[in-house]
Amino acid sequence: MSDHAHTPAKHMACGRVVPDCTFTASAPSEEELLKKIVAHAAEAHGVTEITPDLAAKVKAAIETR
Ligand SMILES: [Zn+2]
Repeated sequence: MSDHAHTPAKHMACGRVVPDCTFTASAPSEEELLKKIVAHAAEAHGVTEITPDLAAKVKAAIETR
């Protein structure tokens, strides 16, 4: 099998929201991606509350490719 078809996925680099953070996440859907980001933010940054402002920044940093 030589299937080079690439299924578009959602990607997000935490460094676009939190300077110097090298965490990146990808998932097939924005919903899955957000779960990973929220888990990372809690674990790595002590973020316990995703404020509307933070959610907007995260969503702005999500790329589809
Ligand atoms: Zn981070």
